[in-house]
Amino acid sequence: MTEMTIETPAAPLPQSRHVATAVPGPRSRMLHQERVAHVSAGFGITLPVFIDRADGGILQDVDGNRFIDFASGIAVTSVGAANLRVRQRVAAQLDRFTHTCFMVTEYDSFTQVCRWLNEHTPGDFDKRTALFSTGAEAVENAVKIARAATGRPNVLVFDEAYHGRSLLTMAMTAKVNPYRLNFGPLPVEVFRAPSANPLRPSDGGAPGTVDAAAALAAVEDMLTERGPETFAAMVIEPIQGEGGFIVPAPGFLAGLRTIADRHGIVLVMDEIQAGMGRTGTLYASEYEGVAGDLTLSAKALAGGLPLSAVTGRTELMNAVHAGGLGGTYAGNPLACEAALAVFEEFEDGTLLANARSIEAVAREVLEPLVAEIGVVVQFRGRGAMLALELADPDTLKPRPDLAQAISAACHAEGVLTLTCGTYGNVIRLLPPLVINDELLRDGLGVLSGVIRKTAAAAAPALSGS
Ligand SMILES: *Cc1c(COP(=O)(O)O)cnc(C)c1O
Repeated sequence: MTEMTIETPAAPLPQSRHVATAVPGPRSRMLHQERVAHVSAGFGITLPVFIDRADGGILQDVDGNRFIDFASGIAVTSVGAANLRVRQRVAAQLDRFTHTCFMVTEYDSFTQVCRWLNEHTPGDFDKRTALFSTGAEAVENAVKIARAATGRPNVLVFDEAYHGRSLLTMAMTAKVNPYRLNFGPLPVEVFRAPSANPLRPSDGGAPGTVDAAAALAAVEDMLTERGPETFAAMVIEPIQGEGGFIVPAPGFLAGLRTIADRHGIVLVMDEIQAGMGRTGTLYASEYEGVAGDLTLSAKALAGGLPLSAVTGRTELMNAVHAGGLGGTYAGNPLACEAALAVFEEFEDGTLLANARSIEAVAREVLEPLVAEIGVVVQFRGRGAMLALELADPDTLKPRPDLAQAISAACHAEGVLTLTCGTYGNVIRLLPPLVINDELLRDGLGVLSGVIRKTAAAAAPALSGS
């Protein structure tokens, strides 16, 4: 057998946008045909191009197109998709071993990841952490832990929530199509309360009229009706992700903290998308000064390797009997090394500053569109988790057609954008935190140009003066 070496690409990936072919190009189209012949039709696709290399703020496809990455693989590759520290640590671990199963024999990287999370998640109390592989697994295990600790069955979730695709977590997710459609019956112990969406109040009130107090009163009513003493956990995203990058009305998270304390309910902060530096603080709940009893990390935790974590109060985390938590791949050693590399990247604070300067640049380019173009009804978000909502300006009737058209036009010009929201009418931006300024401005310029053109073509009367 010949000795294998890790092949490193000869030249760094140019950090510039380049459209070499129609999008998707001929090779991607051919590979996509093959995919259709072999892959379940149950997987959707945002942009059917096949990626050859990715690094920094660029994805390069098999036709030589280079896309500006405003997706980060859905908020995962915050440190870049080929981060040097991640590659080095994972490569070194690959040479030692790939797996033992932490429940069979131990390795120290698992402990060190737990230790770092205990030290860095919100909450000035004694903590323990449990590692898993996916976000949905972290959510499910948080519910298991809360049930074991409280002896109660029920789970409270919120309008516009997204918590995953497994059987329990899809029941916790709000949107039916595509996440829950045809997949029932669902667990019956999941109850949904109104959220505090400033643009679209759950009570049907006028935009901007939502105040946290009204939303919290509705949550209390909901609990009273069902019996607060039957609730093990309430699970909330500090900024809702798939639901539309909704920043709750100020005071809502703090109010939930108070309600949870009053009734002995475990507050679970699902920071899977908003956490790990995405919003300019390590965890998004820090903006509200609220700490969950349990905090969930996943997506950006391990630089693209599958790893998730539940971190929280020791008395909760240790309420589970030995053997009650785990999983064959839970806290895989390659993923743990990748997470330790990500933590090193965070240590000097540059990534958090990057997230805040991404917000400043995006705000400068995109926020004026709200005044200028009627159908752009809101620019929102924090740090590098930003969104534009498209709707008719007078009625707020959602315009998913425009969001789709804008996204498609961006793709054709070499900028990868994603949509989200209950109505699919929100364009969301999740650039890697390492994207350089020039690339960021180029991508935002394409986006704003496309928005102007699309809005003008769709409804000349709405595009302003
Ligand atoms: C993505 C996501 C999940 C689910 O994570 P998976 O790794 O896809 O299972 C859960 N909660 C939130 C807030 C998410 O954004």
